[in-house]
Amino acid sequence: MRRQIVAANWKMNGSSELVRELVPAIRESAVALDNAVEVVIMPPSLFLGGVKSELSGSGLSLGIQNIARWQEGAYTGEVSAGMAADVGCDYALVGHSERRQLFGETDEVIAEKVARILESGLKVMLCVGETLEEREAGNAEAVVCRQADVALKGVAAADARRIVIAYEPVWAIGTGKTATADDAQAMHRALRTRLSALGFAADEMSLLYGGSVKPDNAGALFAQPDIDGGLIGGASLKANDFIAICQAAKA
Ligand code: PEP
Repeated sequence: MRRQIVAANWKMNGSSELVRELVPAIRESAVALDNAVEVVIMPPSLFLGGVKSELSGSGLSLGIQNIARWQEGAYTGEVSAGMAADVGCDYALVGHSERRQLFGETDEVIAEKVARILESGLKVMLCVGETLEEREAGNAEAVVCRQADVALKGVAAADARRIVIAYEPVWAIGTGKTATADDAQAMHRALRTRLSALGFAADEMSLLYGGSVKPDNAGALFAQPDIDGGLIGGASLKANDFIAICQAAKA
């Protein structure tokens, strides 16, 4: 049985006040999920400690949005996977399209980060996804599979249970456009087949969908057999919307 997971990517949004308001509201509502859905909160790094305190004893998970490709040293401004583990993170997000596009992160850099995350004992949440141009050229599946191939090169099959993949079509992130449930399912199926070919126990791996997931489309997406939850950006900053999306993953 695969884990259903809903993760909140706050991106560079939020404040100490939001931590104090939003996290307790999510925590309270998450009780009704009866542990059927793993909820992961990924705030900006400066708020990890505050979110961790609010989550204490709740069973909800904590994630960092980005880590360095080094573990320590003279890398001013960077934060390592080991540091994220030290402050109590469970997950590290890597490969988000904003990091690929705005910070020039290549598949190879992402592979280095995956290695640092695993060696620090954290779980990886790896984002993959095609641009609109790539989809229109008929290359969506090839792009997504290449991103997974390179990022996971060298990862031991035994680590499959510490890898979660979020399929996020770039054209759907923050745009209000979502992949249809059928298109998202087709990509998740293709990805699972690829993971299996790479030697992973793909049927045990949670594959999330991300890209303008809202309460009104979450149910149809999460009902697909290969979609095991979602990575949520904008809607994760509104307690009622995020909670409704978590509920949809339970149904
Ligand atoms: C994201 O940033 O990972 C994301 C899916 O954003 P949004 O839900 O706002 O499209």
